[in-house]
Amino acid sequence: MDFTLTDREREWVERGKALAKEFAPRASVWDEESRYPAENHERLQELGLLGIALPTEFGGGGASLTECYLLVEEISKACANTALLVHDQNVSGRILATHGGPAHRETLERLAKGEIEVTIAMTEPEAGSALYEMTTNVRRDGDEWVVNGGKTYNSFGDRAAAHLVYARFADTTGPDAIGMILVEADRPGVSFTMMPRKMGMHGVEEVNLKFDNVRVPAENVVIEGIKGSSAGFVRPLDIYNATRVGMGVMALGIAQGAMDYAIEHLRTRRQFGRFLGEFQGLQWMLADCAIQVEGARLLCYRALAEVDAGRTSAYHSACAKVAATEGAFKVVDDCLQMLGGAGYFSGAPLERMMRDVRMFKITGGTTQILKNTIGKALIGSLR
Ligand SMILES: Cc1cc2nc3c(=O)[nH]c(=O)nc-3n(C[C@H](O)[C@H](O)[C@H](O)COP(=O)(O)OP(=O)(O)OC[C@H]3O[C@@H](n4cnc5c(N)ncnc54)[C@H](O)[C@@H]3O)c2cc1C
Repeated sequence: MDFTLTDREREWVERGKALAKEFAPRASVWDEESRYPAENHERLQELGLLGIALPTEFGGGGASLTECYLLVEEISKACANTALLVHDQNVSGRILATHGGPAHRETLERLAKGEIEVTIAMTEPEAGSALYEMTTNVRRDGDEWVVNGGKTYNSFGDRAAAHLVYARFADTTGPDAIGMILVEADRPGVSFTMMPRKMGMHGVEEVNLKFDNVRVPAENVVIEGIKGSSAGFVRPLDIYNATRVGMGVMALGIAQGAMDYAIEHLRTRRQFGRFLGEFQGLQWMLADCAIQVEGARLLCYRALAEVDAGRTSAYHSACAKVAATEGAFKVVDDCLQMLGGAGYFSGAPLERMMRDVRMFKITGGTTQILKNTIGKALIGSLR
């Protein structure tokens, strides 16, 4: 068992560190002004980093998921909004690269270049954790499919050129006949409304999507939902299982960023005539943060190594995401505490980090739903 990063992986870490340094000074701007980090997008695009984990045959960078997330983790230490755009761009792209056909090639190539964004439109108002209860549907009409329904919490939906829409391909319930279709945002009948301002991650917007008799060509189908089969729903889950580790990695990046900030504070702030870092109570608090982050990071890297070896494990991905996101939340909270009043005010990044890191316990599968996955994997089928 070798825990050292390869030379290539170390290079990605170094690139991530350099970018984090570049992005740090304006991280609070996107938060305070609720503005998309367009400058960072352009910079990442210029460097060819928006499709880094997509296959080279589509113009992607051909990096492994581990390499991609090492970069994402470093960027998250400074600016989680920017990290999320790298992350999401690669999730949609990996789905299209794995399951799409020739008709999706142009979209994928533009996505890999960072020219467009493609969202994942899965969650519905009445189908959150219970995704099987979705009602958005498609019906065949000659050479076209007609899409009707609505989605919610759609990240980057205000900017996207297209959406990967999960829908029912027949009049069914449960996972039966659910599939996926690419719907361009400018097709007649597609509309959206902005969701209210959220707690953190203000550089990214979510929208409610509506599909009202939207006609798309038959070749837009990414995975056709077949009556009597749950494959259309289950097959892309492999990619989710892989990429949800990315949610954990971003949370860990934020936690490490918070720790770096707290360490600097403990080294420089004096109370009772001593540096705060001299108090054992605070040293132990910091040590607990480090133990939490180091442990969760190993789980994440292990899950990613499995993905890169072609053995994605729902169990290990779920363990990694839960440990990382729950642990990171606690770590950021403790780091904020180490700053005292200074941590609670917006002058220090801790206040923003606390709000940003909270999101990761919900998106990409909630802690409770992933614990269900872990529990079921341990207990097995009881019927
Ligand atoms: C900022 C943000 C961005 C998002 N971006 C996207 C996106 O781009 N695309 C997309 O499709 N979705 C997106 N989502 C949706 C996200 O995946 C859902 O919010 C999540 O799956 C939970 O669904 P819900 O919010 O409807 O909660 P609910 O399903 O209503 O759950 C509420 C609570 O009950 C718990 N719960 C539910 N069922 C069970 C159970 N069986 N056992 C134990 N506990 C249970 C949940 O864990 C949660 O704590 C986003 C969400 C957020 C907050």
